[in-house]
Amino acid sequence: MTTQGLSSEKAQALLTEYGENCLPKPSRNSFVRLFIIQFRSAFIYVLLVAVVVCLILGQLINAFFISVVLLLNALIGTIQEYSAQQAADALADMVPQQSRVIRDNHPVVVDSRSLVPGDWIMLSSGDRIGADIDLRQSSQFQVDESALTGESISVSNKEQAFAGTLVTHGRAEGEVIATGINTQIGQIAKLVHQGVDTKPPLMQRIDQFTLRIAIAIVIIIALIFSLTLIRGADLSDVFLLGVALAVSAIPEGLPAAITVALAIGMKRMAKANVIVRKLVAVESLGSCTFIASDKTGTLTVNEMTIGQIWLANEHKYHVAGEGLAQNGLVHRHGHGVPVTVEEELGLKQLTLVGLLANEAHLVYNTDKIHADGDGVDLAFLVLGHKLRLTSELENHTQLTLFPYESEKGFSASVNNSPLGPQISVKGAVEKVMTMCSLSEEMSQKILDQTHWMARHGYRVLALAHGAGTAESDAFTGLEFLGLVAMSDPLRHDAIEAVASCRQAQIKVAMITGDHPVTALTLSQQLKIVSEHDKAVTGSELSQAMALNESEFDRLVATHRVFARVKPEQKMEITQSLIRQGEFVAMTGDGVNDAPALKHAHVGISMGLRGTDVARESASLVLTDDNFSSIVKGVIEGRIVYNNIRKVIFLLVSTGAAEIFLFILSVLFALPIPLFPLQILWLNLVTNGVQDVALAFEPAEGNEFSQPPRAPKEPIFDRLMLERVCISALVMGLIAFGLFAISLQMGVSEEAARNLTLMLMVLFENVHALNSRSEHRSLFVVPFFSNPILLLGIFVAQGIHIGAMYTPGLSDALQLSPINFSHWLILLATASVLFIVDEVHKKRWRMRANPNLGEPITDRRPE
Ligand code: ADP
Ligand code: MG
Repeated sequence: MTTQGLSSEKAQALLTEYGENCLPKPSRNSFVRLFIIQFRSAFIYVLLVAVVVCLILGQLINAFFISVVLLLNALIGTIQEYSAQQAADALADMVPQQSRVIRDNHPVVVDSRSLVPGDWIMLSSGDRIGADIDLRQSSQFQVDESALTGESISVSNKEQAFAGTLVTHGRAEGEVIATGINTQIGQIAKLVHQGVDTKPPLMQRIDQFTLRIAIAIVIIIALIFSLTLIRGADLSDVFLLGVALAVSAIPEGLPAAITVALAIGMKRMAKANVIVRKLVAVESLGSCTFIASDKTGTLTVNEMTIGQIWLANEHKYHVAGEGLAQNGLVHRHGHGVPVTVEEELGLKQLTLVGLLANEAHLVYNTDKIHADGDGVDLAFLVLGHKLRLTSELENHTQLTLFPYESEKGFSASVNNSPLGPQISVKGAVEKVMTMCSLSEEMSQKILDQTHWMARHGYRVLALAHGAGTAESDAFTGLEFLGLVAMSDPLRHDAIEAVASCRQAQIKVAMITGDHPVTALTLSQQLKIVSEHDKAVTGSELSQAMALNESEFDRLVATHRVFARVKPEQKMEITQSLIRQGEFVAMTGDGVNDAPALKHAHVGISMGLRGTDVARESASLVLTDDNFSSIVKGVIEGRIVYNNIRKVIFLLVSTGAAEIFLFILSVLFALPIPLFPLQILWLNLVTNGVQDVALAFEPAEGNEFSQPPRAPKEPIFDRLMLERVCISALVMGLIAFGLFAISLQMGVSEEAARNLTLMLMVLFENVHALNSRSEHRSLFVVPFFSNPILLLGIFVAQGIHIGAMYTPGLSDALQLSPINFSHWLILLATASVLFIVDEVHKKRWRMRANPNLGEPITDRRPE
């Protein structure tokens, strides 16, 4: 830090002068484009054919109304998708790009949009550079300029770094020279393309599903067509029938309802501190069977405190105090009086090394602590304050910095000291030991001591120093100074969250760069593993990988704690888990975690601690970095999936019922039971209110007492098939009975259709209630927990009865008023569907658990 930076007032003034540091937003789907996209679906094509058929047959009213319905449906779909998109954009703003700058003489992290020319910016690996920078100072600095030029290059002092490019390695500082539209990338005007949005897998599956239905319809229509033709029926009647069948079979409301369900899930997840970057990740998180989590910061609070120190002369010290508080005395083990650095030279040397190989910033003002940087580095600064050593730093000027990168496992610096140039190194014990010449006996002592500290859950770092300068970081012949043990408390809610995962049969693994014994101890406290389990290390994994893939898979399958793992190995672990059929959620924060995050089914990155690169590669971002938020997200994801199933059930079973009704009518040579327009009305208007309402169903409470569904489980599993078939048969058969008996009793065709349509509307209302739970009785589901659905039912009835009395509409739909007693009889008839479904649910519960009869616990996880 070689500057005081701008004052906040000056920065504010410059911001007003130059404007926000942002580029014009890439053009998202506009309302009009979304509207046009709506017409790209099998359903619409079929309806368009229907319109043409009606025109050919001269049925202008039908053609007109089908077109109106088509437009209305597209409009509703557009509005729903547009608002979902807006909500997603708003959420994306909750994860802003950040930059570390110096303001008022202190490093602070600011939203990159508030960068101004003249700002002093500090860059480190993983940053997406927020502005064009004149570099003044750099250490092993590398930038990936592919956003601009397509190559990755090293950039050194006195060069420039450009907005939009990525820091892949090292550190640099410099002055902002251009922001916003004045940057190179702003000048290119052409915006960085984030890639084309591919259709999410869920949507693809639904598309396939609709396509298959469309094919099935064509076959059924062809059959019925030939059948009626052989009978010598009127050709235009047959066409009409075909259109009606097509309309009934296609679940028109499905895409819109799914979008709504996902959007609701997205909002609920945001409340649980999970920001969704890709809408479909909502559903993916619900299906995850394996969560692979970082340790530091996700399972722990990332507040490192040095608790113990062990010197090479075997003196041992205890350090009091916690977190950033600068009071806390240091005692030598077994001595009553606190020590001072004047009498303990080894302690002084060790602490000084920890202060020199350090990138953090810590200033105690009377009113406020200014802390910035890595937790490990800050812990050393706190120790420096406790031992009153920080003033020593004035006698040292830094010549070279070898910044900490997680794949290296250490940090170092070369400084000019009163005794001449000096190398200071701190880092992982094994790493630092290789840089020192140690006797076998000493090595053993160090390893024993490390093991002891790690066994107590401490993170252990070793420190070493030596005289001289260094060109590269391949140090040798250093003097080993000692070990430091840092505690980093577990997050208090992490243990509970791990327990919830166990209940939900989701496997949890810890993946860390830390020491295997430290990792194992913490994992045991978290109950991720039991007393007898072991950790597997990165080098064991790479040995196994060198042997063969199946050996690697075996190691991954039999362990839950992965320690001393290199970032690139995270990706291999992810791939292995996927090979073994897991549906993997993987967390990550560093620059090298991006491939693993992209590869996992659900990539999760950290909002606070994570780098820009990690956040850009993830599909979810945790705003509080907390493991338990992932678990809350999983519940929301499961709710969304269940609700999508409910919507599909409602739509498909009513569609199937309509087809069944038609097939029966054709078989018994009756006239067409419902006109195409009537079916459209039924499917889109009266049913359309309810399918979307099902997307609002709250948690059933058993989301966490059930195992995750198998990644390959089809939406149409046995339960779904049974329920669809049974309810379609009941509805189709009864509706046919009503239609046939009415005709038999001499009622006119039009009146018979009127009754049949009313019955179908009632069926769908009853069925909307049935759809609320797949196995719980409606008597158990809290009746008012989804007011939107109840309202939807009233609205559906209201609209339909209203239409009977609305002149133009009732003519087009061929409706006429039904008296109250008939309505009541129809309602009672429709209730049969409710009874049948309740009986099926009961039988399903018995089958799932014959001993109890009522196996589905309604225990809500707290
Ligand atoms: P984690 O998975 O817990 O985040 P890291 O990859 O950050 O683990 O750390 C791995 C090892 O690197 C640590 O055990 C420690 O020895 C070393 N280390 C971590 N942070 C620093 C740092 N700031 N300076 C030097 N060494 C560090
Ligand atoms: Mg770390």
